[in-house]
Amino acid sequence: MDNQTLMQYFEWNLPADGLLWRRAAAQARHLKRTGVDLIWLPPAYKGAAGGFDVGYGVYDLYDLGEFDQKGSVRTKYGTKDDYLACIKTLQDAGIGVMADIVLNQRMGADEVEQVEAARFDPNNRNQQISDDKMIGAWTKYNFPGRKGKYSDFVWDWTCFTGIDWDANTNQGGVYQFDGKDWSADVATEKGNFDYLMGADVDTDNPQVVDELIRWGNWYRKTTGVDGFRLDAIKHIGYDFYEKWLDALRKDDGRDIFAFGEYWSPDVNELTAYLANTNDRMSLLDVPLHMNFRNASTSKGKFDMHNLFQNTLVGADIMHAVTFVDNHDTQPGQALESWVEPWFKPLAYAAILLRRDGLPCVFYADYYGLRNDGQPPVPDLKWMMMARRYYAYGEQHDYFDHHNVVGWTREGDDAHENSGCAVLMSDGPGGEKVMYVGKRFAGQMFRDITRRALDAVVVGDDGNALFHVPGGGVSVWLAEAAYADVVIHCD
Ligand code: CA
Ligand code: CA
Repeated sequence: MDNQTLMQYFEWNLPADGLLWRRAAAQARHLKRTGVDLIWLPPAYKGAAGGFDVGYGVYDLYDLGEFDQKGSVRTKYGTKDDYLACIKTLQDAGIGVMADIVLNQRMGADEVEQVEAARFDPNNRNQQISDDKMIGAWTKYNFPGRKGKYSDFVWDWTCFTGIDWDANTNQGGVYQFDGKDWSADVATEKGNFDYLMGADVDTDNPQVVDELIRWGNWYRKTTGVDGFRLDAIKHIGYDFYEKWLDALRKDDGRDIFAFGEYWSPDVNELTAYLANTNDRMSLLDVPLHMNFRNASTSKGKFDMHNLFQNTLVGADIMHAVTFVDNHDTQPGQALESWVEPWFKPLAYAAILLRRDGLPCVFYADYYGLRNDGQPPVPDLKWMMMARRYYAYGEQHDYFDHHNVVGWTREGDDAHENSGCAVLMSDGPGGEKVMYVGKRFAGQMFRDITRRALDAVVVGDDGNALFHVPGGGVSVWLAEAAYADVVIHCD
């Protein structure tokens, strides 16, 4: 079995030029060679901001850039035809496509409805702070540009639990509609975190659940996507995605891969969600991202013994999607917690070159974060190739120091010249004797980051003395493997 790598193929501030689907298709073969097996594409349906919407302000799930709605036919990323062609091209190159599924909220309704609603304390959604009164709610979605094609389902206020705006008085707040309750099995931040933004979809309404399952099956059949990234699941009762995934998997006949975004730094919340949903999906390892963030801002004071402490990949190796940053954590975004650039190569080595977890490479780390003037993460492409071809075999850990830590892989017979050694430091440079295996006795290892210029020679006992510069990482491969990676990437 070859190592798998996932790539998130967008960041928040991409130009709204309608060309992402075409660009992704053009990169398909290059990405496959680099070791990418799965690509997570951004939400493909029309948002309230039309051709400018990143995709999370969902307006019409059935408009994949096909109808003249919200000021354009195409989405930020292109037309429906571009999207379908992109998926086909990626799949032909051997890359599976993960669709971003955003079902928690809707925005950009077509009409206002008069609805009885009460205000709730934004910081404690269990606390009602006003009597019911009539508000103007943007909750009627009849999609005049689509005219009932694919689905004649009309969304009205009964499909939602609450909203953040009274159009009668132009007053913001958290409004809950009369006769509705927040979903019970959601995150307990703010008392109850069912409500996130926009018009909150009522996933306790059976007609809504039926329509979203109908849509899911239509979407999968129409696009041929291979799996799903599920948005904002801590704001949706956990029984919803049990039903939705079960229904889609049954209809498809395959165990479609899915991973969820449950945004919490507390690993116990993540493992509880997995237990409650009987492991129906994997989850993004938010606690590991927060460890990377904390290490990167601690100027060497982070205790590197603890890099994998209290992480999902530490608790449940089968269901962890590890990542360094994403479109929400980048500078200026809602969950900003950007890993400082100096630490990024260390973080990527930690997700790409170890045995456990499915690593996700972020677009902006691979290509650079253009609006913020940040270049690509140094050596990322090389580490992805090292993962794909050489990071195999038994793993030996050396998390035995507050600054300098590392691990080795012994290699296996199925992957020629495989095996590697990784050493990193969040403080001064250092060195460490590590065991790479007796099969390498007398062989030279070289650092693909080329900051540690000298080769090291493995002793008869399978040990070698590896070294690393301060605030850096060195990634050592056997001589032949090193030459292969360097030639492929230059
Ligand atoms: Ca919700
Ligand atoms: Ca340290």
